[in-house]
Amino acid sequence: MNKKQKKWLRRILLALAIFFAIAGLDESGMLERVFGEPGALYANFALYLIPYLIAGHDVLLKAWRNVRRGAAFDESFLMAVATIGAFGMVFFPEAEPHMAEGAAVMLFYQVGELFQSYAVGKSRKSIAAMMDIAPDYANIERDGELVEVDPDEVQVGDIIVVKPGERVPIDGIVIDGASQLDTAALTGESIPRHVETGGEVISGCINMTGVLRIRTTKLFGASTVSRILELVENASEKKARTESFITRFARIYTPIVTLSALAIAIAPPLLGMGSWADWILRGLTFLVVSCPCALVISVPLSFFGGIGGASRLGILVKGSNYLEALAEVDTVVFDKTGTLTSGTFAVVGVHPQSGIEAGQLLGVAAHAEVFSDHPIALSVKEAYLDSSTGAHALDDRGDPAIVQARVANANEESGRGVTATVDGRAVLVGNDKLMTAHGIDCPNCELTGTILHVAIDGTYAGHIVIADTVKDDAAQAIADLHAAGVKRCIMLTGDHEEVARAVASEVGLDEYHAQLLPGDKVEQVERILESTHGNLAFVGDGINDAPVLTRSDVGIAMGAMGSDAAIEAADVVLMDDRPSKIASSIRIARKTMRIAHQNIVFAIGVKLLILALAAAGIANMWLAVFGDVGVAVIAILNAMRAMNVKGL
Ligand code: ADP
Ligand code: MG
Repeated sequence: MNKKQKKWLRRILLALAIFFAIAGLDESGMLERVFGEPGALYANFALYLIPYLIAGHDVLLKAWRNVRRGAAFDESFLMAVATIGAFGMVFFPEAEPHMAEGAAVMLFYQVGELFQSYAVGKSRKSIAAMMDIAPDYANIERDGELVEVDPDEVQVGDIIVVKPGERVPIDGIVIDGASQLDTAALTGESIPRHVETGGEVISGCINMTGVLRIRTTKLFGASTVSRILELVENASEKKARTESFITRFARIYTPIVTLSALAIAIAPPLLGMGSWADWILRGLTFLVVSCPCALVISVPLSFFGGIGGASRLGILVKGSNYLEALAEVDTVVFDKTGTLTSGTFAVVGVHPQSGIEAGQLLGVAAHAEVFSDHPIALSVKEAYLDSSTGAHALDDRGDPAIVQARVANANEESGRGVTATVDGRAVLVGNDKLMTAHGIDCPNCELTGTILHVAIDGTYAGHIVIADTVKDDAAQAIADLHAAGVKRCIMLTGDHEEVARAVASEVGLDEYHAQLLPGDKVEQVERILESTHGNLAFVGDGINDAPVLTRSDVGIAMGAMGSDAAIEAADVVLMDDRPSKIASSIRIARKTMRIAHQNIVFAIGVKLLILALAAAGIANMWLAVFGDVGVAVIAILNAMRAMNVKGL
């Protein structure tokens, strides 16, 4: 509880104590003995006014301010009218006094409000636990000494030092040291990640064992931590349909019940159907019950809880509308490379044409790929650097190294490959589509794998066969999705038919489409969209697939270390790159929707019942206030279940 809530609680407890003291006094008959018959009534009135005002003065003020602004008809207005009305019953001498109820309604309303504020605070905190990943400082070395600076001041390329126990403040590359990183706050994954010199670290992880010197690769504002925080903070702006339905509902509902209450209070006595006191009381009771707080708070709270719970598993949902969309997903479309497969290719064969050596072929390809971040490019570069046969230039030998200066005019054709000038010679590296587009014939290869053809100066120079491995949880992920009721799991890939078929059967996909350019993927998704009833989710690693991410009902980007464009374009971001998180996110979404719907049905149902009873004069104000606060508390407790994602 925060300070404000503690003060609030003390105020309510004080008012409750006074309330019960007065009630005791009232029961004992003391007041009658001291003040006489009518006097006791006024004494009672004055006494109950004390706890009433202690507990509810802020509600009255708020209601008054709203009325003056012309924006009445909110909860505080309903409560103010109902309680003032209850006290006002004192002017009907023939009726029973109702001051106690007036004070009690206000007291319990405040108990409910406090509980609500606590619940909201608590679920906000679960997101804030996520927010805890924000570092306060970065250590940089100045004149051989470590100084703490604001992470915002650190430039790209600066060296920061992260000691054991500290959070990595900015994304970067380890230049010295080795350590275990705790990534739990980001990915929900409890097994620590080992990093050493040359390894990439993302901000938000906790350094556990060794001192790390890190060269930053991003500004603080562009680092993973800042992007996550921004994303989570903006999540509440994107409202689910269910949520806006409730807001609209409350906007129509409140004036309607206020007018109905008025009608109940006035019409029957005017028609001579009973006493004013009786009907006014029924109208007031009706008002108390009708307060829509349970709905207004518990539905957004359910979504909030779902988003917060998901974030603890490393699943960032950009808004409740996407949670709603996820719950209705029945088709999941996957990109292959980097999504279902690890995206770290191993070179399984280098087949040069005669006149060129294997090492040279690899070297030329690695240079042409120098600016590409595609998983294929990264793997080729790594394979070249690891190889013993270096080829500095086409006719030269030495240790393998990639020299940027040797490359000019590098250009990536997404879904095909790259073109570049290496050592002044025009080089093409890519699939058969790229070769055909440049009028170069290319042979087939007997090895299975992704084939990178290389052409130099318009002549075919050979090919490199690389193979990717399917992620170890990919098959499980597809099985989980089917178990969760997803009807179709489809893979789209720019790779060859054979590779696609092998992967599809290994992981158990329902369908696959191969040899697609990024544009073809959009077309495919549009075609699939036409034949699905539910929503279509597209999962990609963001290399070449931002357009498809945007086009699908729910775009899921994997591996927050993946491309920035994907994280922008995606609706759901998985911090790590485990496909099994997709089924988890669908289950969380479904659970959240279930809870939100339960709350809507439960709250409206109970309200309608008590409203009917109140109109019929069966429910009294006590039942009304317990009905109202009780429903709110139960709905809020139910909403908070959405935060619990263990075992999902
Ligand atoms: P996927 O659909 O499997 O994720 P992409 O659409 O990213 O694959 O790429 C499709 C194909 O295009 C690859 O299999 C490869 O043949 C070729 N390709 C794409 N980018 C490159 C690159 N940088 N270098 C070589 N080939 C590439
Ligand atoms: Mg891809």
